[in-house]
Amino acid sequence: MARRSISSRGRTEAKASIATGKKVLKQEVVEINGHCIEPKAARDALVRWGRKHFRPFPWRNTKDSYAVLMAELMLHRTQVAQVTPVYTRFMARFPDLESLAAAPKRRVANLLRKLGLQWRIDLIPATARALMADFNGTVPRDKVALCGLGGVSDYIASAVRCFAFDEPEPLIDTNTVRIVGRLFGLPMKDSSRRNPIFKQAMSELLDRKRPRAYNYALLDHAHTVCRKRDPDCEVCPLLRWCVFGHGTMVARGKAVQKNSFLKCRPTRRIFETADLKTENE
Ligand code: SF4
Repeated sequence: MARRSISSRGRTEAKASIATGKKVLKQEVVEINGHCIEPKAARDALVRWGRKHFRPFPWRNTKDSYAVLMAELMLHRTQVAQVTPVYTRFMARFPDLESLAAAPKRRVANLLRKLGLQWRIDLIPATARALMADFNGTVPRDKVALCGLGGVSDYIASAVRCFAFDEPEPLIDTNTVRIVGRLFGLPMKDSSRRNPIFKQAMSELLDRKRPRAYNYALLDHAHTVCRKRDPDCEVCPLLRWCVFGHGTMVARGKAVQKNSFLKCRPTRRIFETADLKTENE
């Protein structure tokens, strides 16, 4: 029978010492599926890139949990270009939970109709009324409470916790999983975002001190650089650690940075290749 659990061979909190000339740096090195990566350096590179390429959507300028929740509900299965004008008008008309909960259903529906999905048109005002009745007019921070609201998926709950409350939540969807899968050279398929090994890899990379900046960078990177088709590996801030990117550069006849892959001296091993094979069979 296929073994589905993650093995944690050799877990230790010890830091590796990496000699760099006379200096000795303390650096964590994580091995995933036989591939080593320095998570801190990778996070720093991604966040640096993210600050330069930040996409300034209106829902990113706020930590108001109501505004963040509304944006995430609208973004579900909907293109950002479609959401932006609707979100802007919606927030001008209904700037808080009270105004939305008290609004006639038809007024709310007229605004949301352009986004499609009839269940969402019905659900958004119903969620506002439930929050007024059960949570004293606030959006809960707790994951279980958030997931108990109609239409709030695990992803939406994580996004609200991260972007409104600065909670260190990995954002796991098809696009972000693609980056991590390519980085570690993991075989991917449609169900990978539900695979515990991918979840573990996402969690390892997450920047727990700067979850908002990191997750915005990850989303923007998946959209503009690590695209599903034709990823732009040459400009990628993660290239030096990326198995897929390394292969792409070699296939394109491009020079690859020397010593771009660490010699594997892991301080932690997350799982063994055998686990991944059985999970993806
Ligand atoms: S190097 Fe290429 S495949 Fe790897 S993360 Fe960057 S864009 Fe994606």
